[in-house]
Amino acid sequence: MNSIAPLHAPMKQFPVASGELVVGGIPLKQLVARVGCTPFYVYDRALLTRRIEELRAALPTRLKLHYAIKANPMPALVAHMTQRVDGVDVASSGELKIALDAGVPAHDISFAGPGKTDAELAQAVASGVLIVLESFREAAALATISKTLNLPARVVVRINPNFELKSAGMKMGGGPKPFGVDAERVPDLLKIIGETGLAFEGFHLFVGSQNLRAGAIAEALRKSYTLVSELAASAPGPVKVINLGGGFGIPYFPGEQSLDLVPIGSTLTSIAEEAAKSFPQAEIVIELGRYLVGEAGLYVSRIVDRKVSNGELFLVIDGGMHQHLAASGNFGQVLRKNFPVAIGSRMHAIKAESVWIVGPLCTPLDVLAERTVLPRGEPGDLVVIFQSGAYGATASPQAFLGHPPVVEVLV
Ligand SMILES: *Cc1c(COP(=O)(O)O)cnc(C)c1O
Repeated sequence: MNSIAPLHAPMKQFPVASGELVVGGIPLKQLVARVGCTPFYVYDRALLTRRIEELRAALPTRLKLHYAIKANPMPALVAHMTQRVDGVDVASSGELKIALDAGVPAHDISFAGPGKTDAELAQAVASGVLIVLESFREAAALATISKTLNLPARVVVRINPNFELKSAGMKMGGGPKPFGVDAERVPDLLKIIGETGLAFEGFHLFVGSQNLRAGAIAEALRKSYTLVSELAASAPGPVKVINLGGGFGIPYFPGEQSLDLVPIGSTLTSIAEEAAKSFPQAEIVIELGRYLVGEAGLYVSRIVDRKVSNGELFLVIDGGMHQHLAASGNFGQVLRKNFPVAIGSRMHAIKAESVWIVGPLCTPLDVLAERTVLPRGEPGDLVVIFQSGAYGATASPQAFLGHPPVVEVLV
């Protein structure tokens, strides 16, 4: 072994022809002409489809696969996904509208998130979607709404477990958390659900996001299922839904590798077999956002300027952190690290120089890549950022500095 810095996992999902990246069968420069401007996000339908097929092949057939649309709520993309998954998870009334407009049956939509307002809860009950109960206040509000609308709210209880997901990029369960109800208080909530006549359907957990360690995910799935089995003893009716979350990660940074689905598949297979006996009416669900869409998207921008300052070379692009907050390192990263980037029309050129890629905003935070080694890039050349299909356009402060909203296309 030597001391060479770790590399990014190879980005092989987009083919290269004549040195140019090809997206959805279209060479990059032709795609830019078709879109008519830079910067933009592009998502590749065939890659979205392939990811779902590969995942289904690795997981038990009985398992239900849901898409968490907060990862990428572009309506055309949601419409593509909903034809291929078993349901969707929404986290606001805006996302609920996108899902209903896309034609997803209400039965297959679940609505999670802390701080659902009474208005949102009423919309959810009237729509007939499954509501992920996150507090005692929500249960009380739903009892009133159900009476008023004469429609019993369909609910699953989100459990804040008594364990954490090891090595997740973002922990969302275990310890003090705003999400769900602490495991030891769940029996009390189940009692209230029974007394108020809400339509109890089961349990939900989501303990963390962006995890690349298959062993840690498998362990969390197993512990989650065990916890559900224990709490089911207090359930006011049969368990029809066991949503075990997900949190599957994708490789963004140097040294990271794609997730190994094998241990996750075998754990879920054994869970599904046990559940078939213990909870014969139950669907086992996992809900994924980033893993389904993240690798199918690129952020495409154009070099506006090339300048040197005190020995460092800067490529200034027309896109920036206002449209791609995550690539700038300001979306929950502790230490800023580079996303994989390329000069999309010089994929085979020799990597000749170490550059900073910066956006047009007047802030030192607007850095998309720091001292990354690329082929020589000139004004007019196209810079692409890989792994940009999730938490991009809608997870960025687009109004910051008054640039126009980013264009998104699905090809
Ligand atoms: C954010 C979220 C997801 C999706 O997370 P990913 O890491 O993108 O897969 C799923 N379920 C819930 C409840 C969430 O809050």
